[in-house]
Amino acid sequence: MSEKESFDVFCPQCNILVDAKVIAKGAGGFRSNAINPMDEVDAEYHGDYYYVFLCRRCNQPFLVRQSLYGIPGEFETVTEETVLYPNESKVLPEALPDSVKAAYDQAARSFHVSLFEPCVLMSRKCLEAVCKILNADGKNLSARLDRLHQDGHIDSRLLNWAHQIRLVGNEAAHDIDFIVTKEDARDIFDFTEAILIYIFSLTKRFEALQSRRK
Ligand SMILES: [Zn+2]
Repeated sequence: MSEKESFDVFCPQCNILVDAKVIAKGAGGFRSNAINPMDEVDAEYHGDYYYVFLCRRCNQPFLVRQSLYGIPGEFETVTEETVLYPNESKVLPEALPDSVKAAYDQAARSFHVSLFEPCVLMSRKCLEAVCKILNADGKNLSARLDRLHQDGHIDSRLLNWAHQIRLVGNEAAHDIDFIVTKEDARDIFDFTEAILIYIFSLTKRFEALQSRRK
């Protein structure tokens, strides 16, 4: 079979097509049309291999499933190669202004080391930074978020999410009996991320799309 030593793959970290080196490989399930062992020699079979490999530039890991089809002793061909990880369709928060990115990175780092309260506080701070960058004024965060909505930066659904992040953040900051669970922190972080992607990343990509089509 075609032993792979490396893969060409789009690395989301490097943001380019890279050469990635294989560090582990394993066989998945095999299915054969053979009815008895005597038939096996010329019966069609289907099989999967799994590869783990690393980007040679940044060490980003990938998991790939390679599907094969063949007849023993005659031929074997790769029918499909699927990148299972990282999930390519995910839109990443990019094009974030520095102050927003600093708060976002801290929220992400907090969550990944199970510091759920700081994760929620930094998520709320992301929203503060967004309001400042977009000149959404008001006497408190609640008013500034409403202003964000009035100025057309977010729609009413995102405004609801933003207020929820603000409220949980407030409780985490002021109520000493309030426990932030992992589930709450993940939701707060995910909704914060979605708001940032909507305001900054997708807006920038859409502008780029429009200018390409001119
Ligand atoms: Zn890379």
